[in-house]
Amino acid sequence: MSETLHLLALVAHPDDAELICGGSLIRAAQARHRTGILDLSAGEAGSSGDRETRMLEAERAAEILGVAVRRNAGLPDGALRNDMAARYKVAGVLRELRPDTVVLMWPQGRHPDHRAASRLGHDAAFIAGLSRAPLAGEPFRPRKIVYAMSYREHARKPTFVVDISEQMERKLEAIFAYRSQFEGRTAMGEVYPGGGRDLREQIRIHSAYYGGLIRVEYGEPFWTREAMAAGGLVGLPVASF
Ligand SMILES: [Zn+2]
Repeated sequence: MSETLHLLALVAHPDDAELICGGSLIRAAQARHRTGILDLSAGEAGSSGDRETRMLEAERAAEILGVAVRRNAGLPDGALRNDMAARYKVAGVLRELRPDTVVLMWPQGRHPDHRAASRLGHDAAFIAGLSRAPLAGEPFRPRKIVYAMSYREHARKPTFVVDISEQMERKLEAIFAYRSQFEGRTAMGEVYPGGGRDLREQIRIHSAYYGGLIRVEYGEPFWTREAMAAGGLVGLPVASF
């Protein structure tokens, strides 16, 4: 069996992938695609939960998502930088995992690590394909980059939304595997609830909004730099009326 990945989420911290594209990862795994997560840091600078606890929670969440691989790049939490050393480190991992499609975080945002992770992921993917880069392994470049847009207030309209209606409950299960982060919380990072609402409910409402954009129950939004292709005008998805 090939060890390459069909889909890799490349994110700043353990729990980011679950939040921004957990449903799509579950959906891909259910379609027998080989999926993975590369956490750039171990989240050791977070205000709740120690390093050990977060590692165990990340393992549990990975099982729920059905990912084949979960790796940690060991870069510094709270101090992620898109510098050459970090690019080489991440490019080396990409050469090993050889993902066809990579999900990156949105390039703007409140958390400096999230912004850095987005740009670092992009640049590392490019460098991994350079035959003269000072890196071990065969040159390899992921074919496709997609940006996750979940919870981005100022982002443009998604290029597409993945229907995760069938995966929603499992996605919540994966998110709440991070008990140290989310149990009893009514706010987290950029996913602010309205009026102290339960976090689970807040995530459900966000996902329902994205789902509504494609007329399904729950969805996850993505953006690509490139235009999406269609085979023709007849039978395009998402009805206008
Ligand atoms: Zn994060």
